[in-house]
Amino acid sequence: PTREQVHNFAAGPSPLPTTVLEEAALGLLNYEETGMGICELSHRGKEFKAVIEGAEADLRALLSIPENYTILFTQGGGTGQFSAVLLNLLSAHRLANPVPAEEFKPPVVDYVVTGSWSSKAYSEAQRLSLPPFPSCPSFSEPRIAASTKSTNWTRLPSKEEYNFNKDAAYIYYCENETINGIEFPPKPEDDSAFPFDLVPEGVNLVADYSSSFISRPIPNIEKHAVIYAGAQKNLGPSGVTVLIIRNDLLVDTTQASKLGCVPPVPITYEWKILADNGSLYNTPPTFPIYVSALVLKHLISEKGGLQGLEKTNKAKAELLYQTLDDAESKGKVKLVVREKSARSWMNVTFTIEGEGQEKKFLEGAEKRGFRQLKGHRSVGGIRASIYNAVTLDSINLLCEYIKEFCGK
Ligand code: PLP
Repeated sequence: PTREQVHNFAAGPSPLPTTVLEEAALGLLNYEETGMGICELSHRGKEFKAVIEGAEADLRALLSIPENYTILFTQGGGTGQFSAVLLNLLSAHRLANPVPAEEFKPPVVDYVVTGSWSSKAYSEAQRLSLPPFPSCPSFSEPRIAASTKSTNWTRLPSKEEYNFNKDAAYIYYCENETINGIEFPPKPEDDSAFPFDLVPEGVNLVADYSSSFISRPIPNIEKHAVIYAGAQKNLGPSGVTVLIIRNDLLVDTTQASKLGCVPPVPITYEWKILADNGSLYNTPPTFPIYVSALVLKHLISEKGGLQGLEKTNKAKAELLYQTLDDAESKGKVKLVVREKSARSWMNVTFTIEGEGQEKKFLEGAEKRGFRQLKGHRSVGGIRASIYNAVTLDSINLLCEYIKEFCGK
């Protein structure tokens, strides 16, 4: 089939705008008539420098990122940041508490666990909590500040369920759980909105925005210490991770380790080193950065920026959820997330009721050109990921199919 005949609902890597890919294909062969492809140019040359600086400026404008935050393009994926967040922020905490090692009190780190990815981030913090110097641990066991595991990730914590520690080195949450299809609503008046007002003063807040990045404005950037996202959903191909970091957290981790009790951070994961070198300390993933730069330009010029995307993405999600709610009332499907305001705009998860029906649904979907609708292997069911590049037309066709399958 052609691209036009296929509706790609992949959770990531996921579809990108066709016009962007066409331009990228040209750039891959002959970038701006240099006679060389973008992947064949030095990352320190003027052409690539213009690409990465343009991407940074466009991202800053698109998200209204304040001046006191640095944007970094790095590698290692979202998973890399599970480790890097912990190590860099423990160093920042150590430098802010420069007492002799014998007097150093290891801080706690607080995790809000609302699905598979925040669980993985928490597990990595647990893994790294085995102290490198048993007599001088860098931090105590990570804490769970709120968890909805007992609901099987079908709702978010209510305000009363959060229990943040005022001495935590940081608080961590995942804004959109890609596998479970649950997302913090942006409006503070919604019961399950992230409780920024409960974050103790001075405690650093970290958010994993991997699967909702640039799908709508990010409220309260300035309430966060760090926001990060792997590119491979809304931004570009896999291989690049974007970080938005408040400048005071770009710390020299070698200096921190000299105070004792914290390890130095491996060099490609130290945010300060990346920042001091404009994300070019070592060879960056030039092609993913190039495509991301093209996507950002496309979103600004063709899609009406984040306000435009917010409108379209809201309409797409509302249409699909309404169709699924109707189908659920007929007993044919079941939406996974039970709390309406917490349903993800990007990853719509549901199950098909009845023996053998899921297989039948997927087979019929394939025939109509709907691809990659199978839920994540760890949870099963169906997942329609409807990122920025998925059109309202594709959603309309999927809704028609759901209605037909369930008997209109
Ligand atoms: N966080 C979230 C919310 C994700 O969706 C993913 C991957 O899909 C990750 C983290 C891990 O990212 P990566 O595979 O780039 O390490």
